[in-house]
Amino acid sequence: MSGTVFSQLDKSLHEHLATLVRLAATGDDETAADLARSELPRVVAAVKALLDEHTPDDRGRCPTCRTRWWSRRLPSPCRAYLTTQLCLTVFDDEPSGRREHARRAG
Ligand SMILES: [Zn+2]
Repeated sequence: MSGTVFSQLDKSLHEHLATLVRLAATGDDETAADLARSELPRVVAAVKALLDEHTPDDRGRCPTCRTRWWSRRLPSPCRAYLTTQLCLTVFDDEPSGRREHARRAG
């Protein structure tokens, strides 16, 4: 055995995600539909759990990532939150009217 338990977990997670992406991209319609029904809710649940932990407070500070407590920089959501938001809300091929993300934070 090589690697720690955590790296094993990390590896299997990434492999799982890669499999989902591959099946969604290359599987037939039935496979893709099955995948969406069975796996999408789990992925959404995972993202929600992540966002819950990293949702910025009134001052824009992440309750989980407190490494910048002392910083005098402008408060801003943490990278985990921002990256998740960007990944999920920035689509090149989607009409802007369908986006529902809140851009009114500023
Ligand atoms: Zn955070």
